[in-house]
Amino acid sequence: MKTINSNNTRIVSFEELRGLRGVCYVRDSTLDQKDGFGPDIQRRNEERFAQTYGIILNSHWFTEFISGRDASKRREFQKVLEDARLDRFDVLLVDHTSRFGRNQAECIQYKEELKQLGKTVIFVSQGIISGSDRDFLSERINETLDEQYSRNLSRYVSAGLAQKAEHGLHIGPAPLGYKSELTSGKRECKVPDPTTMPILLTALRDYASGKFSQREVANHLSSLGYRTKKGNLFTGNAIKDILGNRFYEGKIIYHEGLPDEVVIDGSHEVSEEVRELWLQCQPIKEKRLLFTRGQPRGPARHFPFSKVLRCQRCHQPYYGETMYQSGNTGLRLTHERHNAGRNCDTWPRSQSIEALSNQFQDRVLSYMVLPDSWKSMITEVTMNDDGYQVDIQEIPRIQKALENLRKQHMWGDLTDKDYRQERVALERQMKFVSPPPQTRHIPNIERAAEILKNMPIMWSHSGVNDEQRESFIQEIFTQITIDGKRITAIEPKSNYAPLFATMVLNPNYGYWETKSPPSPPANNLYTDIL
Ligand SMILES: [Zn+2]
Repeated sequence: MKTINSNNTRIVSFEELRGLRGVCYVRDSTLDQKDGFGPDIQRRNEERFAQTYGIILNSHWFTEFISGRDASKRREFQKVLEDARLDRFDVLLVDHTSRFGRNQAECIQYKEELKQLGKTVIFVSQGIISGSDRDFLSERINETLDEQYSRNLSRYVSAGLAQKAEHGLHIGPAPLGYKSELTSGKRECKVPDPTTMPILLTALRDYASGKFSQREVANHLSSLGYRTKKGNLFTGNAIKDILGNRFYEGKIIYHEGLPDEVVIDGSHEVSEEVRELWLQCQPIKEKRLLFTRGQPRGPARHFPFSKVLRCQRCHQPYYGETMYQSGNTGLRLTHERHNAGRNCDTWPRSQSIEALSNQFQDRVLSYMVLPDSWKSMITEVTMNDDGYQVDIQEIPRIQKALENLRKQHMWGDLTDKDYRQERVALERQMKFVSPPPQTRHIPNIERAAEILKNMPIMWSHSGVNDEQRESFIQEIFTQITIDGKRITAIEPKSNYAPLFATMVLNPNYGYWETKSPPSPPANNLYTDIL
């Protein structure tokens, strides 16, 4: 008999997991073993997670052996689904997104099936609750990452750190008052540093007295001539870091703030004085936090396009603004704040996020179609280094011309309009002769390609909110230019630029396939979308 929980009981935070029934899924493959991430490590990660969050684990483990490409059957996974239908568990623990499905389509399909059955999937190593808003972007990106790439990045790093933390060793650079030292040949550990220890003690004593704020403590250190490791003045934030670092309490924290956070006794030596002073500071800090927290703030607003949207005429940015009108809240981006656009005649002065979003979809996203041959196109271009050498020599000439243009404008020899036109033309030339962005680092490009491919679907997806849209935009673009009402140009980040170039050159789609204004000069690869 099927028991289907309703979707309104969806888990959104790790705290809600306590007492739920969990099962673990482990994928065993020759590749994983070869890389040292065999089933044991996956199992241990899942167990540790379950322990931390009070999940009651079933004694049965679903271990799937997958060899080569023949992963289509996934027998164990079918059993997981069967158990889900029989409501034998609430939560499925999987070590990593890459252990779950071989590609995004497969991942989404499996997760959808489990979701329909009211089950929650958690990727414990990445701290992702599948399907939650909070983890939307990281989940999608992780799914789309090339498995090998994903393995290299997140797994190796975190497993290495976990091992280090298990031995009670502090991870990362030595905090103030301490230095790194190699003992017994190889092992690195943190020992008190006689040079910086007095700075630490002064800071702790000051703050523990309860008479000074964090900034005042920092100023005091500076007035005594103390400087940070990098030679800078101390700031209130530096003091805040010290007060929040449990290293001074003798503890080591692994994956702080993450689901698998572990606090253990460090193997480093902390003097009684440091520990006591640091502990004395804690209640003072707590009290001040409560005091300064004040009125609860309204919900955080997110403005897609903010920081990225700029005016074509004056190059000033647009700012997010919340409008209240007859009980409704509207989010807009405006060209009229912080002096931005004050002397600019562009009209209208602001646009609603919704209108911008729709326009972005119609005028930008619908043309963002990667040709199938993008990879070979990019490889071809990057192989041909010589072609760019000649052009690079043009750069100083154009820079000089730009400089002269600016002077003429300053002296009043050129009208604003002429200046703008000339400058735009020169900047276009500059773009053309500039060397292509570094594209040799293929994993980055592949990740970028996956994100671009998924962007149009994600943008209009009903489950996507403004915060996520904002992060997409910031992930991909350095700048989006608008002339009053119309988006006129986009500028992708350097690791996306080659991909945009392939879209422009794509014979089947043509990025600026257009009826209206004439095409801009053909050398302007990806800025104009008119
Ligand atoms: Zn403007």
